[in-house]
Amino acid sequence: MEQLLEKIASFKTEISSFIATKTDEAEAFRIKYLGSKGLVKEVMGEMKHVAADKKREFGQLLNEFKLFAEAKYEELKTATENGESSANAALIDLSLPGDPMPVGSRHPISLVRNEVVSIFQRLGFAVAEGPEIEDDWHNFTALNMPENHTARDMQDTFYISQNPDWILRTHTSSVQVREMEKGKLPIRIICPGRVYRNETISARAHCFFHQVEGLYIADNVSFADLKQTLYFFVQEMFGKDFKVRFRPSYFPFTEPSAEMDISCLICGGTGCNVCKHTGWVEILGCGMVHPNLLENCGIDSNKYTGFAFGMGIERITMLKYQIKDLRLFSENDVRFLRQFTPAI
Ligand SMILES: [Zn+2]
Repeated sequence: MEQLLEKIASFKTEISSFIATKTDEAEAFRIKYLGSKGLVKEVMGEMKHVAADKKREFGQLLNEFKLFAEAKYEELKTATENGESSANAALIDLSLPGDPMPVGSRHPISLVRNEVVSIFQRLGFAVAEGPEIEDDWHNFTALNMPENHTARDMQDTFYISQNPDWILRTHTSSVQVREMEKGKLPIRIICPGRVYRNETISARAHCFFHQVEGLYIADNVSFADLKQTLYFFVQEMFGKDFKVRFRPSYFPFTEPSAEMDISCLICGGTGCNVCKHTGWVEILGCGMVHPNLLENCGIDSNKYTGFAFGMGIERITMLKYQIKDLRLFSENDVRFLRQFTPAI
């Protein structure tokens, strides 16, 4: 009698812990416990060995056991059938086209920046970067623009009232100073980055814009090296179908200084609105690094010479893509930005 009770108890534990994930497994459960040769039937068969006075009590117990096994089977059956049907519904038809995923485009400023960087990298220039929040020394004083120098008027910027020595850099020349201060020569770098000026926002000016500046310092660097480097750059950037000229100019950090013009890409030199009817457009400023700068940064100006140049990325982009308003670059109008998708 006791044996039979133990048997039922152990079957019940087995049944409770039975797990089925497929209908086949639920069916195997049915055969094992509820089939014509199943365990429930087998236990029922033991009834004949039970004493007559206990038959009623055991009959109830066995019936409960049978109902317990049946209930478990129903539960397994429903769960596996539902599981399989929902799995079927989730099957993906791989032959269908996928959901369209909108692909963005690079910003035109990034496109041109990358192109400029890649051209100079081919000439052996490395990219150098520096902080946008600068101190007075790196942005002005070291660049031959001491306090009260009139050239500072051309580059008014944003100051932090609590600490007037900190400013938003007005050019990436500050990165050149930082590189020169490291004292590792020769230096052959380009410095792309965002700069700030206190300017009224218009079609031709903004309070922030981007520059790429270059610096080459070594033994015997000459103005001829500067010209050849820049000729190579403009031809790679705009093609070979135009003329180039250098105009004498003034920058506090170079001597001699020049501005470089190319013949107008729009009118071909005959005169239009873009070139203000001169046939020429200015694209960059350049010159031989002023000896004071080298000395300020601890470089022997009798031994080393160098050239530097700088250009506005916005200006190059406007010329390359014939964009007439500088503000378009920062308005985030997707109708404007989408036009550059094929240029990636
Ligand atoms: Zn023109």
